[in-house]
Amino acid sequence: MKTIIVWFRNDLRVHDHPALSAACQDADHVIPLFIFDAKLANKSANRTRFLLESLQDLRQSLNSRGADLVIREGDALKQLAALCKEQNVTAIYYSADFTPYALKRDKAIKASLPASVVFRGFAGRLAVSSLDKIHTKSGDTYKVFTPFWKSWQQVARRELASTLRKITIPTGVSVGKIPTLKDLVRTADLSPTVQKGGETAARKKLHAFIQNEIYDYKADNNNLAKNGTSKLSAYLHFGCLSPREIETILPESASAEAWHRQLAWREFYHYVLYKNPANTNREFQAKYRDLKWDSNEHLLRAWQTGQTGYPVVDAAMRQLHQEGWMHNRGRLIVGSFLTKDLWLDWRAGEEYFMRMLIDGDSANNNGNWQWIASVGVDPAPVFRRLYNPASQRDTYDPEGVYTRTYVPELRQVPNKYLSEPWKMPHKVQLESNCIIGKDYPEPIVDHAQARKAALERYRVR
Ligand code: FAD
Repeated sequence: MKTIIVWFRNDLRVHDHPALSAACQDADHVIPLFIFDAKLANKSANRTRFLLESLQDLRQSLNSRGADLVIREGDALKQLAALCKEQNVTAIYYSADFTPYALKRDKAIKASLPASVVFRGFAGRLAVSSLDKIHTKSGDTYKVFTPFWKSWQQVARRELASTLRKITIPTGVSVGKIPTLKDLVRTADLSPTVQKGGETAARKKLHAFIQNEIYDYKADNNNLAKNGTSKLSAYLHFGCLSPREIETILPESASAEAWHRQLAWREFYHYVLYKNPANTNREFQAKYRDLKWDSNEHLLRAWQTGQTGYPVVDAAMRQLHQEGWMHNRGRLIVGSFLTKDLWLDWRAGEEYFMRMLIDGDSANNNGNWQWIASVGVDPAPVFRRLYNPASQRDTYDPEGVYTRTYVPELRQVPNKYLSEPWKMPHKVQLESNCIIGKDYPEPIVDHAQARKAALERYRVR
């Protein structure tokens, strides 16, 4: 009898799961395993809840195929080694992950397991099976997105993995309990209205999006008030969906292509971090590594809590608190504001996003923060990514629906003043039930001055 462990990590699904399919083909018995590793103890309450829901869902899917999800807690290597010994396991299959942490961990595990146990990574995290196939004609790594996108599209894709109807786990293996949220994190940060985790919810959302909103994605994806984006990011982060499978069901349309391009951004940032692991801690562009960022707890706190006095910035930060998710346009606006208006280190933004986001992902978060701080790949002149929060509101939330949804104290403020409410005459403040400095903060910074100062600080490089 041959037994193989399928070690689930960020691939919490049963559809198009190459490691799971291969294990079922290669072995008589399969042990689907998830390990809660203290070293990875999740610092985000929102993401931990999403993870637990995804594991419950995975367990149900495995149950309906005659199997179960085996849960272990503790150091991954020790748990794997113990289970291999206990169940005479000959191989461990997993979906290969490309983040610096995962690569280092997997290398160490491979080196420490007994030689008799095969430790084998499969495709499944990304649409392409290998990031090493993507390079310029001269063999260099891409640093700009558009040529990457062209090359990425040319990479041959794998066939989808078959979805199994029956999975046989060995009798006598103890399955273990999925811990509760309170066992794992402090719950004070939990957002009240968050998407539900799990492959079942993910597939439902994906199919609804592909039948409807995808056709308007190109036109609507920057509009803050419209529900024009897929909201699939957390499902992609946890691998509740296979990006490769998604590609096979995309309709033929320019709008669907625009959305496909966003999936490529996800792979671009995985590629960038894979090729430049030092980006985890430092700026990709060497000339910006010694920028002297300010340190100001008061300003950071105002940004985090959505109390900057700039309505669209505050709306976006409050959306993050409310939903554990933020619209991409909002992320761009608050990212530009933190770094270029407040001159606070992009790493403080990156860290706060990792704490709050259900889709918090080391590659995507790091890559996007470096991009908006103008210190990363895909460079452009600083002023092009230095946004005026007032005109951003005018352009991307013209009716003020988004801003008023998340900043209720501005609900009665006329549209004319919604971008810069401090310009409201006192009479209008009274009529709008919104006294600036009392009901809603004065702006914490002067954008025009901050813009000039930021451009100067970047220019001296
Ligand atoms: P859609 O517009 O429907 O796009 C589909 C998918 O494409 C997304 O689910 C996502 O997987 C991918 N995608 C879209 N835009 C990007 C992008 N710019 N970079 C990488 N992938 C993208 N995304 C994360 O998944 N995790 C993060 O931690 C994260 N941090 C960010 C931080 C900042 C400062 C910024 C500006 C962006 C960040 N993003 C991050 C990217 C983007 O904002 C989200 O992926 C997107 O808002 C998710 O919403 P959606 O699923 O509706 O996206």
